[in-house]
Amino acid sequence: MKKVVKFGGSSLASAEQFIKAGDIIRSDKERRYVVPSAPGKRFGKDTKVTDMLYGCYAKAEAGEAFAEDLKMIRERYEEIIHGLQLDLSLADEFAAIEEKFREKAGEDYAASRGEYLNGIVMASYLGYEFIDASTVILFDENGEFESEKTNKVLAERLSHVECAVIPGFYGAYEDGKVKTFSRGGSDITGSIVARAVKADVYENWTDVSGFLVADPRIIKNPVGIETITYRELRELSYMGATVLHEDAIFPVRREGIPINIRNTNCPEEKGTWIVESTCQKSKYVITGIAGKKGFCSVNIEKDMMNSEIGFGRKVLQAFEDYGISFEHVPSGIDTMTVFVHQDEFINKEQKVVSAIHRLADPDTIDIESDLALIAVVGRGMRSTRGTAGRIFSALAHANVNVRMIDQGSSELNIIIGVSDEDFENAIRAIYKIFVELEL
Ligand code: ASP
Repeated sequence: MKKVVKFGGSSLASAEQFIKAGDIIRSDKERRYVVPSAPGKRFGKDTKVTDMLYGCYAKAEAGEAFAEDLKMIRERYEEIIHGLQLDLSLADEFAAIEEKFREKAGEDYAASRGEYLNGIVMASYLGYEFIDASTVILFDENGEFESEKTNKVLAERLSHVECAVIPGFYGAYEDGKVKTFSRGGSDITGSIVARAVKADVYENWTDVSGFLVADPRIIKNPVGIETITYRELRELSYMGATVLHEDAIFPVRREGIPINIRNTNCPEEKGTWIVESTCQKSKYVITGIAGKKGFCSVNIEKDMMNSEIGFGRKVLQAFEDYGISFEHVPSGIDTMTVFVHQDEFINKEQKVVSAIHRLADPDTIDIESDLALIAVVGRGMRSTRGTAGRIFSALAHANVNVRMIDQGSSELNIIIGVSDEDFENAIRAIYKIFVELEL
């Protein structure tokens, strides 16, 4: 068995947290490949090392003094090294970083040093080999991640290494220039490594015990999700569930490797399993609820729209022309509605409206703003009758007016549009009917 373990920033924020991570790794010899993030927050108002690096580099790039900022970053690592009683000096590393900052090596290079240095510390602490991610995680000249080439290079490299630490979040272009993934990207690195070594499981250690059925800021103590499929998770992360980077499932999904989200502070808890498919029924008909505010709907009316071939295409063309992606397009006989992100749309709305008039010649166009979308997701919905009925009666009882309904053809989710101000109430009502009343 081979396990790839990724530790998030809060799991490696201090020597104390490092020791917990080390104990977890050492307690199972199958945990052979380790992907660390940069040190995160030690307490609520603390600053992540990655943010300190961005700030420090911004000064370097503006030609301002940055030595003091770099010193504070170095102190974060010194504190960890000292707490772990390691015989390790990062003096040369920091001298090289200072030099590179002066040469304006780029924001990606700067941000990547958080993981790079933490990888060196982790490798020294565990006695594992350190592999610089810039030699094995590869990007093409347009900054696109090269999945197949990386997989080949990484698989070959790791086939000779029994145990290794590969820092998360970054890789490099062909010429060696560092490139990072988007924020939270160490989750993606962990998944890439798991695919390359054909791991039995990708363990993602963080500071929560997995995914929750609903957002704890809205529902007090929501129940946890034991098992969720990749597809269900896609729907939920797209709608705002943020435990794992939304792109992290793609590499492991190709090999059918399960992801296990675990809590470094409570390693005895089983966490959430993310799998390709399962015959395990979720405890409730729904697996999870997530949602986002800040959408608007563009309602287009035209008599006999349904018999006019190409009408929908012309309308969507107007959005495409202004680079706006749409979320949902429910339609009726004489109406069609396009849901878009308000912040993307707001500055271009009049241009899009006139383009729709020009291209599709509708009778009227009416825009509504401040709408929220809620996704109710669950593989169990397909085989259970009455789910939609229960959702809508719960919403009616909670006095929530439903503005839009869209059931995906996969029958995996039902998307509901409500006004922003009804958002929390709607989630509470849905949670209550499917979880609290079932408990
Ligand atoms: N350290 C990076 C960030 O703060 C990447 C990561 O933690 O995954 O976004």
